[in-house]
Amino acid sequence: MTEFTLIPSAGTAAVDAPFTGRHLIDGTWQDSADGRTFERRSPSHGVLVSRSALAGADETEAAIAAARRAFDAGCWSRSSGKDRATLLLKVADLIDARREEIARIEVLESGKPIAQARAEIEGAADIWRYAAALARTLHGDSHNSLGADMLGLVLKEPIGVVSIITPWNFPFLIVSQKLPFALAAGCTCVVKPSELTPSTTVMLGEMLIEAGLPAGVVNIVLGYGDPVGALMSEHTAVDMVTFTGSTGVGKAITAAASGTLKKVALELGGKNPQVVFPDADLDQAADAITFGVYFNAGECCNSGSRIIVHEDIARDLVSRVVELSRRVPFGDPLDEATKVGAIISDAHQAKIDGYVKDAASAGAEVQLGGGEMEVPGLPGRFYQPTVVSGVTPDMAIAREEVFGPVLSVLTFRTMDEALALANGAAYGLSAGVWSDSVHTCLEFSRRVQAGTVWTNTWMDGFAELPFGGVKESGSGRELGRYGIEEFLEVKTVQMRIGRTRQ
Ligand code: NAD
Repeated sequence: MTEFTLIPSAGTAAVDAPFTGRHLIDGTWQDSADGRTFERRSPSHGVLVSRSALAGADETEAAIAAARRAFDAGCWSRSSGKDRATLLLKVADLIDARREEIARIEVLESGKPIAQARAEIEGAADIWRYAAALARTLHGDSHNSLGADMLGLVLKEPIGVVSIITPWNFPFLIVSQKLPFALAAGCTCVVKPSELTPSTTVMLGEMLIEAGLPAGVVNIVLGYGDPVGALMSEHTAVDMVTFTGSTGVGKAITAAASGTLKKVALELGGKNPQVVFPDADLDQAADAITFGVYFNAGECCNSGSRIIVHEDIARDLVSRVVELSRRVPFGDPLDEATKVGAIISDAHQAKIDGYVKDAASAGAEVQLGGGEMEVPGLPGRFYQPTVVSGVTPDMAIAREEVFGPVLSVLTFRTMDEALALANGAAYGLSAGVWSDSVHTCLEFSRRVQAGTVWTNTWMDGFAELPFGGVKESGSGRELGRYGIEEFLEVKTVQMRIGRTRQ
């Protein structure tokens, strides 16, 4: 039996011509004034996928100024919920119509499998539709019990100009967890996608223009954190920054934004524990654990990378997960059968490997994998499905985000011990509990420090349900009704009625 399930290159020529990305500023597509560009090569196929204009401070300033003008002019910020919803629904239809094209670029820039890219694009279109519904139900409160001559109105108003900064792991989905809600609220935006995956955000800009969005309401600048993201965070004309990415950059953005005290919403990293009690259905748990660690090659904030299993069932669970791991198809992301694709960059591959090697030298046991992997016919970077047991809480692999296809296994004896391990990390994004007892599931859910708890399941997602983290996993919530509330300011109006004196 071979150790892993490998999908060799399907032999498909990856790209006919590289995608050309320009900045979208005040309704027009623009190159950078100095003509500079940057390139993205496919992490799986090695070919040139895109060449994008590289923004500096001038382009970023122009984009922020356009968003400010558009907001203050009121063409969008004072439009009706019905008009906003109509536009968001058009965008959702355009996303559906261009799904294959978007998915293919997403695969080539990120290395993720085509089937998962398609699902991501479908999920994104659904979120645009959900946000459209919110645009039409936006309302504040009225208070008529303040006395006979007083009426109180609580208005919800768009917060203003919003900077949206996104990472490379779910480029189209993550911008779609922010932008439609900001637009539904009446905000104007400046968007900066990751320099590793800029192109699908550019496509989204094309769809916004095609749908009829007024100039300046959404501006897109392509480039690096320095200077583009930094300027978008500190600028006095920006009212809010919403960021998804690493905790380190989240802290830098918070510091940059503090000069103006603008609102900051952060979706950051995770070190998500899944606690498995002895009465759990082990087949179901092993299957979900295997999915949870290899989905998106583990390059996922919700990666269920930290298994905390009762010591009586640890050996059994680990052997089931190892067997399932051997069967997960790793390889060519353009092949329909592939479940795990390439790692985003050489530096990231080395970082993943470093965590595994350090754990092994500190006494952990590598049960499966633990190294780089060749996929026949592809020049790109792949990492073996890896299961590491005997991990202790002091090891870096137990505390830090590995962001690769690597599972760490720790053991416990009591609920208190399990919770101490689960809550012992600096992060608090998501957590899972596996047990047949509703009491165990509820006790764990209430005592664990996490923004989302999955009980007897892992990583489902719904546009209706809020998502976000506690502790160093961030602040604020996306999706659900909370998703639009983040982009709204509350204004109180107190009205004295009639000619009464105070
Ligand atoms: P990253 O923090 O390196 O970069 C994210 C974005 O920030 C990029 O667009 C980058 O150009 C920009 N940036 C970099 N430095 C900046 C600065 N000083 N000021 C402003 N912007 C700056 O993250 P990444 O490597 O692209 O993504 C991986 C990280 O994202 C992981 O830590 C992962 O957990 C996290 N993530 C979190 C969620 C969530 O919802 N909680 C979702 C996906 C990814």
